[in-house]
Amino acid sequence: MKTMAGGFLDRERQKPVNATAAVKWALQNTHIHTIISGFTTFDQLDESLSVMNDLELNENEKKDIILAQSLPGLYCTGCENCLSQCKKNLPVPDIMRAYMYTYGYRELEKAHELLTALDLTKNPCKECNSCSVVCAKGFNVEEKIKDVTRLLDVPADFIT
Ligand code: SF4
Ligand code: SF4
Repeated sequence: MKTMAGGFLDRERQKPVNATAAVKWALQNTHIHTIISGFTTFDQLDESLSVMNDLELNENEKKDIILAQSLPGLYCTGCENCLSQCKKNLPVPDIMRAYMYTYGYRELEKAHELLTALDLTKNPCKECNSCSVVCAKGFNVEEKIKDVTRLLDVPADFIT
């Protein structure tokens, strides 16, 4: 799952994940023989299927894999290292998933649903003097939590 790592490497969606590089990179791992990838267009499906004859990364794909590795991206690996670090015991990995839904997939309804289910308030970090979380991916979790929980201001029926 999450082969496309959120679809984009940045909040502004200026750096899309190289789809063929991502599929090849995952399937080159001999422990992996299946990927579950979401598609919204037939072009995306064709693009991913096109790699099946040759999983060798070309130079451009290698470059994009290295770039993706050098950036925090939008995808939380769910390592859960942050859970014991947060002073308010916030479900940080779940909130990061909502962040990825929002900025990576533009699935605002899903993000809103998740944030609501987590019973969060807008900016739950606001009474915290300093953030004690050191994210394994290098996310500034305080900033991301503040940003994505703004979605709770929007009524659900406005998004659907
Ligand atoms: S700033 Fe937010 S994420 Fe960081 S420790 Fe405080 S409550 Fe937790
Ligand atoms: S430490 Fe970072 S990557 Fe790991 S679960 Fe927490 S937010 Fe996600």
